[in-house]
Amino acid sequence: MVTRPLRFAEILAVGSELLTPFRSDTNSLYLTARLNELGLDVRGKSVVLDDRATLAAALRAALTRADVVVTTGGLGPTDDDVTREAVADVAGVTFEEDPALLAAIEARFARRGIRMPSINARQAQVPKGAAALENPNGTAPGLWFKIGEQVLVALPGPPRELKPMFEVSVLPRLRDLCASAVLRRRTLKTTGRSESHVEEIAQPIYTTWLQSDPVISTTILAAPGQVELHLAAQGEDASVLDRALDDAVHKLEAALAPAVFSIDGRTLEEVVGALLLERGFKLSAAESCTAGLLLGALTDVSGSSAWIEGGVVAYANEVKVQALDVPAALIDTHGAVSEPVAQAMADGVRRRLKTDLGVGITGIAGPTGGTEAKPVGTVALAVSGPGDRSVVRMVRLPGDRTTVRRMAVQAALDLIRRVLTDADYN
Ligand code: ATP
Ligand code: MG
Repeated sequence: MVTRPLRFAEILAVGSELLTPFRSDTNSLYLTARLNELGLDVRGKSVVLDDRATLAAALRAALTRADVVVTTGGLGPTDDDVTREAVADVAGVTFEEDPALLAAIEARFARRGIRMPSINARQAQVPKGAAALENPNGTAPGLWFKIGEQVLVALPGPPRELKPMFEVSVLPRLRDLCASAVLRRRTLKTTGRSESHVEEIAQPIYTTWLQSDPVISTTILAAPGQVELHLAAQGEDASVLDRALDDAVHKLEAALAPAVFSIDGRTLEEVVGALLLERGFKLSAAESCTAGLLLGALTDVSGSSAWIEGGVVAYANEVKVQALDVPAALIDTHGAVSEPVAQAMADGVRRRLKTDLGVGITGIAGPTGGTEAKPVGTVALAVSGPGDRSVVRMVRLPGDRTTVRRMAVQAALDLIRRVLTDADYN
C-alpha cells in the first residue's frame, strides 16, 4: 500500500472552561509549533465544549479536512470528560479495558498512599484499535488512533502532562509518518507604514506566489506600530523551499525598504541594540510621555548594558529644565510638546550622560490634554548624534493612551534605527 505523506493538521481544544473569559487555550500554540516542525501545516483549530455529541461532530468535521487531528483535554476521570467516548463514537468502536493501564493508574495512587477512586477505572478504557499513551505526570492516558491513513491523537489538558506526552509518545510516531514533509516559514517585520500601505505594495508581489512552485502563502499581521508579513511554503525538499522563501523575502524587502527592519525574527529593540553594539555607540534617553518605556524596551534585550547608558524621566517641565537644561523660554514659546523641546531634551540627556546618541520624546498620550493644533497622539521625537547629526520628527499616533505610548516607543526606536543605518526617515 502506498501511503501518502501527512500534510494537514487540525487541533481541537476541549473544555467548557476554555469558553469562559477566565481561561484561554495555550496548548494549541505549543502543538502548532511542534506540528510545524514536522512539516504539518495546521489548517484549523477550534475550542469545543465538554459535550460528547458536539465533540464527535467537531472531530468528524476535522477529519474531513485534516490528515492529523489532535485534541487536548477532556481525558480525565469525571463525567464531564468525554473525549475518549467521542473518539470511540467517531471511529465506531467499543471500549476494551487495558489491564496494564489500570495497573499503572492504581500504582500511581498507591505511591501516594491512597486507594484509587473507582471513577478512575474509566481511564483504563481504551477504544478498540487505539493505543494508550503513557502519562508519567498524571492519571489521564492519551490516545493514538490510526483511522485508515489518518491519525487522531487525544492528549490531556494540563500543559505539564500534554507536553512530555507529546515529546515522548507522539513526536516519534508522527515523525515516521511525516518523514518527507517539510514546512518552512519566514517573517518580515516592518514599521512606520500602515497595514493597508504594506498590503498595497506587497499584495501584487505575493499573489503571484500562489501559482508558483513551490506555492508560497502570505499572511499580514498588524500590531501597534508594526506590520508583519508571514510567508510559508510546504513541500518535500527543504533546500528548494528555503531558496524560494529567501528569494521571496528579498523581493518584498526591496519593495518595502526602508520600512523593513527584520527578516530574521528579531524585534525592533533587538535590531537597534545590535546596530549600537556594532558601531560601538552608547545611547541615553529623555522621556516625557513614555516615561521610561523606551529604555524599558531597549533594556529588555540581553547584553543591553553594553549600549545603554541611562536616562531621565522628564515628565514635568521643571525636570526638563533642571535635569536636561531645556531652556524654559523654549517651552514657553513652543510648548512642551514641540520639535525644539524634543531636540533640546535629546541634546541635554546626551550632554549630561556623555553618550554618542541622545533621544528625546515628548507628546500627548491622552485622553486629556489635546488641543486643536496638537491633538491627542501628537508626539515629538528627536535623536541627537552620532557626531553632529540631529534629527527631529513630529508624528500623529492613533489610539488610546496605551497604544499612543507603545507606538511612540516604536517610532522612537525606528528613528534611531534609521539614523544608525542612514536610511530615509520621512
Ligand atoms: P485531568 O485529568 O486533569 O482532568 P483532562 O485531560 O481532563 O485532564 P481538562 O480537565 O480538560 O484535562 O483540563 C485540565 C486543566 O488543564 C484545565 O483546568 C486547564 O488548566 C488546563 N488546560 C486544559 N486545556 C487547556 C488548553 N487548551 N490550554 C491550556 N491549558 C489547558
Ligand atoms: Mg478534566
